[in-house]
Amino acid sequence: MPQIKKILILGGGFGGINVLKTIQNKFKNEPNIRISIVSKDNYFLYTPMLPQVSSGLIHPSDITIPIRKLCKQAEFYQASISSMDLEQKLVTITRTFDGKVRALDYDYLIIALGSNTNFFDNKNIEEHSFVIKTVEDAIAIHDQIIHMLESAAQTSDVDFKKKLMTFTVVGSGFAGVETMGEINYLVRESVKNFYPSIGEENISMNLVASEEFILPELGPKLGKDAGKYLRKAGVNVITNTKAVDAGEDFAQLDNGEKIPCMTLIWAAGVVIDPIISSLKCKHGKSGKLKVGKYLRLTEYENIFALGDCALITNPSTGEAYPPTAQNSIHQSATVANNLYSMITGK
Ligand SMILES: Cc1cc2nc3c(=O)[nH]c(=O)nc-3n(C[C@H](O)[C@H](O)[C@H](O)COP(=O)(O)OP(=O)(O)OC[C@H]3O[C@@H](n4cnc5c(N)ncnc54)[C@H](O)[C@@H]3O)c2cc1C
Repeated sequence: MPQIKKILILGGGFGGINVLKTIQNKFKNEPNIRISIVSKDNYFLYTPMLPQVSSGLIHPSDITIPIRKLCKQAEFYQASISSMDLEQKLVTITRTFDGKVRALDYDYLIIALGSNTNFFDNKNIEEHSFVIKTVEDAIAIHDQIIHMLESAAQTSDVDFKKKLMTFTVVGSGFAGVETMGEINYLVRESVKNFYPSIGEENISMNLVASEEFILPELGPKLGKDAGKYLRKAGVNVITNTKAVDAGEDFAQLDNGEKIPCMTLIWAAGVVIDPIISSLKCKHGKSGKLKVGKYLRLTEYENIFALGDCALITNPSTGEAYPPTAQNSIHQSATVANNLYSMITGK
């Protein structure tokens, strides 16, 4: 392998980091392989436990790993991807700390940039809701819950107290369900143990799901069981319903119900970043990158895509794999093996 090959990984989440780890092992001590990774944050975030940060059960440092610690044989750039020129094999990045722009060239590109929160162009919901995607989001939710508890403990106006103690989560995928489970526990335990003046009867927890059952990633059986479990824990699981509007103190549902609440958490879907959806290649309806069976873009055999930003079809069902950490990890092994075979011919 005499010629230097440059591998560039975009995204330091489940997909990108697991590709990095595997190819570093495969190309261990191989001087002609140059690996680089670019990501907005300089840490890997274990998102499935982000809801536990929002409930204060764990600390952000419990679920973050510095990416540099994982770079055994790779260069890390903390930066935002500003553009990609797939023809010229160039990625432009903007440095996080001073906004300086530079271009990185590559021979092989791995796109694992995840997804963004989808507000479906609803500005009111965007303005009045919390989201759960980053460490900062989880801390903001935690602060809000404590603020609501302290406020409710000091008001004798029962209607206002109920409004302060009503928490509505929209979205019944992993992010929404796990967050509801965590905040339900935090609020109920806090009221029982530390805020007796609030009264448990004033707590209201709502989980709004657009489908017939929650956790569609897991299928109807497990989804229905999870719904039963949450109901038993005191959560009002509202299925087949969407939130269509929101204000400072309410969430409006499409079944006509208006929920008075001071805390709305939006976890109702993901959207692909325009940097990806505007690339000149094949996309799914959502803007995800369409890849073939080797997880390469059909137009560029040196470019792989995986994780939430890729449209990958299960050959036995014909259905797209859902955007989960588990799927990203599985796909990372496929990408790393295929990349290794392409470069070495083995
Ligand atoms: C709260 C929550 C709970 C979840 N729970 C579960 C669960 O229990 N089980 C499960 O399987 N899945 C769960 N998921 C889903 C899971 O997190 C995602 O499916 C998974 O992270 C997707 O991996 P990925 O590598 O595609 O994207 P990500 O892990 O999101 O990684 C994308 C990376 O790209 C970086 N990036 C994005 N855009 C740019 C840019 N323009 N420039 C530079 N860097 C950029 C990001 O900072 C990030 O590091 C959960 C998600 C959330 C939010």
